[in-house]
Amino acid sequence: MKTLSAHSKLLLSEKAHQQGSEHASDYLSNLALRRVSPSKADITLMDAFSEPLPDGPSNPLDVVDMLHRFGSPATVATAGGRFFGLVVGGSLPACVGARALMSAWDQLATTEITSPISAHLERVSSDWLLNLFNLPRSSSVGFVTGTTMGNFVSLAAARHRLLSKLNWNVEKQGLFGAPSLRVVASREVHFTVEKVLAMLGIGTDLIEYVPVDSNGAMKVSELPELDERTIVLTQAGNVNSGAIDPIGKIVEKARSNGAWVHVDGAFGLWAAASSRKKHLIAGFEEADSWVTDGHKWLNTPYDSGIAICRHPEDVHKSMATVAPYFEVSKNIDAKDMMPELSRAARGVDIWAALKSLGRHGVQELVNDCCDHARLLADELEAMGFEVLNDVVLNQVVATYSPDEARVSDIVEWVVNSGIAWFGVTRWQGRQAFRISVSSWVTCREDVEETVNAIKSASDELGLFRS
Ligand SMILES: *Cc1c(COP(=O)(O)O)cnc(C)c1O
Repeated sequence: MKTLSAHSKLLLSEKAHQQGSEHASDYLSNLALRRVSPSKADITLMDAFSEPLPDGPSNPLDVVDMLHRFGSPATVATAGGRFFGLVVGGSLPACVGARALMSAWDQLATTEITSPISAHLERVSSDWLLNLFNLPRSSSVGFVTGTTMGNFVSLAAARHRLLSKLNWNVEKQGLFGAPSLRVVASREVHFTVEKVLAMLGIGTDLIEYVPVDSNGAMKVSELPELDERTIVLTQAGNVNSGAIDPIGKIVEKARSNGAWVHVDGAFGLWAAASSRKKHLIAGFEEADSWVTDGHKWLNTPYDSGIAICRHPEDVHKSMATVAPYFEVSKNIDAKDMMPELSRAARGVDIWAALKSLGRHGVQELVNDCCDHARLLADELEAMGFEVLNDVVLNQVVATYSPDEARVSDIVEWVVNSGIAWFGVTRWQGRQAFRISVSSWVTCREDVEETVNAIKSASDELGLFRS
């Protein structure tokens, strides 16, 4: 009896999954043609959700239908080819399929006991990532929500290591009364790193900011003296310009004096996967910790961040849920190597992406995005816009020099047209718009359509009239 009733309950899940899959297919088949940003009418549709908490149950299939009917139109088409805002990737086909299966699996992914398959694929993905980036094979790899939490894990490990050398056990004794650490960071450090320093109780007041060059990369000549109390925060991939700090040179300065060098490579770390681009990040493998996102340039679904550390024992000591083990092996449960006790099988997304792309596919993805960014920059310049950054990767920052205030009009025109999406930014004191090409979906036609939309905007707004 019990089996039967469980069986019939699961039949409902099966039907709901099928219903969801059909709607997902419908969504994906329209994605290349629909508006990138929802229209006002699409937003109004969401009023359907603004109802009091229902007293009674609804048919699960109706719930799924409702979500598609009133919810899908109010999404932003970030999974399509013409969303160029922030730094946002789409979802690779293998990942989309894997997610469908994983939604049925519903695994608690942080222990071997609750999910052998997740634990196994996280080990495989870890090895593949270390191989792809050519990082020390004994490094720990943690699958977190994104680079913010990856930075959190890395800096917690750094905090642990530097303080323990000063005979201070931060996990036990806390930070009240602890010896002081130093933090050296680029003027262009990402704001989430500052947030992480606040979360870790280190705070932001003590940051020693290092000036940057015209493309936003740290000036090595301006680095202060480093010592065994210092954490150096480098960046691979400036969110505006794409610039990568001269990490190799920074590491050279840090190595002899015991400073910890961290690399925030949310998207820029993937430059290491391209033979055309890896010179930009030369020497990065000598750092102590590295973080990157799956959901940006690797094009896994949200949310997916990767924290890699040369010193697994320091990660373990700062993240263990029980008394830390003396030795850290590859079989240690994920829950003892990162913040969450419960989380999704994020390593499976990474595995699906890397298995479907292979080393060459990752390289091609990176190169294609860079080529499209280059093409966009050239077309913008041909129109008369001023490109403000050195387009080293996938990011383009441009402005209308005669009157920078008009940049927001251009962005508004294009976004309202629904053809493409990108946003305004401030770059080295100037008002500009920023285009990030990070999706595997984007093809030449998407770039051309976007260029044409910017042309139409310029015409209608009366720019470049002589
Ligand atoms: C996006 C980004 C972050 C934050 O990453 P999340 O995945 O959004 O948490 C941090 N640093 C840089 C350089 C980024 O581009």
